[in-house]
Amino acid sequence: MNEERQNLQFLRELYHKKIKPVYYQTVWLDKHPDLFKFLINGVRWFLRILRLFKRQNKILPFRIRNAIDMYSSQSMNGDAIWMLLQSNKSLKLYLEGIFDAVESGARPVVWHEWCLTPDLILAFDAQPFCTESLVEMLYFLGPFQTELIIDAGENKGISSEYCSAAKGAVGAYFEGQIPEPDCIVTAAHPCDSMLSSYQTLEYLTGSSMFVLDTPYWNDGRSTDYYIEEIKALIIFLEKHLNRKLDYNRLRSVLNEVNRTNILLMEINEMHRSVPCPGSGMSTILSWASRITGMGTPEITEMTKRLYKMTRKRYESGKGILRREKIRVIWFDVPIGFYYLVLWMEEKFGATVVMDLVSYVNTPQIDTATEETMIRGMAESYRNLSMVRQFHGPIEFYHADLIRICEEYRGDCFIFAGHVGCKHGWAGTRLLRELMKKINMPLLILTSDVFDQRITHEDQLKSHIEDFFTLNGFI
Ligand code: SF4
Repeated sequence: MNEERQNLQFLRELYHKKIKPVYYQTVWLDKHPDLFKFLINGVRWFLRILRLFKRQNKILPFRIRNAIDMYSSQSMNGDAIWMLLQSNKSLKLYLEGIFDAVESGARPVVWHEWCLTPDLILAFDAQPFCTESLVEMLYFLGPFQTELIIDAGENKGISSEYCSAAKGAVGAYFEGQIPEPDCIVTAAHPCDSMLSSYQTLEYLTGSSMFVLDTPYWNDGRSTDYYIEEIKALIIFLEKHLNRKLDYNRLRSVLNEVNRTNILLMEINEMHRSVPCPGSGMSTILSWASRITGMGTPEITEMTKRLYKMTRKRYESGKGILRREKIRVIWFDVPIGFYYLVLWMEEKFGATVVMDLVSYVNTPQIDTATEETMIRGMAESYRNLSMVRQFHGPIEFYHADLIRICEEYRGDCFIFAGHVGCKHGWAGTRLLRELMKKINMPLLILTSDVFDQRITHEDQLKSHIEDFFTLNGFI
């Protein structure tokens, strides 16, 4: 392991400046939710007043503007922020685990791509590191660090057509911002960007890598094939981590995964009601936390809080917005560098009732035996966000989309057009035809999940506003 290469400066900055202070300032209040929500609501009133001034004042730094927009919005209320405390706790433990693994060398570090969950790695008592997670987490420090590592990847020759998450992962490695891996686990899904960038990472790190070969179809034969792939992955990890898989530990991690998924599916169901009792913002943020912490009790607790707040509104027949006017289906990756969802809510009463990363349709894993757990993992991995929709023919994506447009009673569909998702762009002609068939207004944007330089927030806002106007929604 090359100790000098890994300065992890951004991860440390994030931990010491953001995650740890928030944790210690709120650790007592976290146990007193009513008091916490009361105090937060007071702060929110203050921020709402501040927002009036902010409208005339564009000189505020991006991060502060974004924070004011977030914490003063209707949907990021006391309940939602209480939920985010668990997300913060989960991130704190994740970062501490990484620092400890790097400094003490006691636990091996296993990289995994963001379209796989860390459950199996946790069961090996190894430290998972989601290679794309730094790009995602840097959002808390501001867009400039994100751009810096994306550029670091491009400057070293990574194709500019890659997903920005992939460019950022390679760039972060060159910059010594991510820990050296003991081995790497990735998959042949969901896209060429991931498959290709992991070959680069394998070459650069010199580490052994396992690529799960995702089957193209969803039938029984494909499941059987994927089960063999998971078994081969277990053998690979046993060899490279020099330990046997503890199936009891795996059972306990997978039970957490089950608890989280069942709650998420219930939340999804509640989002079908009119008005929508939850916000796309909360579910997108919960997805971002699951990337690094799925299978841990902190993520289950975070999801429980999300479930409770959604259920409270659902049972009282209240929406998350005072007046819901437009129900938006955003069945694509979100915008990560700006809270566009909140802007739509506040400005137009437009709720994102369902989006691609919030959509969870994962069968429960039968944890009775070793065999059933492996089968359950195969089925679960194949249903993760992006993988479920993009591992086979475009009909898989269309089938989900039609059902979602109908079941969630969408008024329109916004396709983010992330430049890295070339498979998404290849299907836009068919997407237009499909939306015409079901009479659903469609907006195709061009954007990047993390890189605001591709399309700035102001351009995205202008396209969305024009779209709503032209379709008579406002
Ligand atoms: S966002 Fe698109 S390009 Fe990036 S990993 Fe997901 S599917 Fe691939």
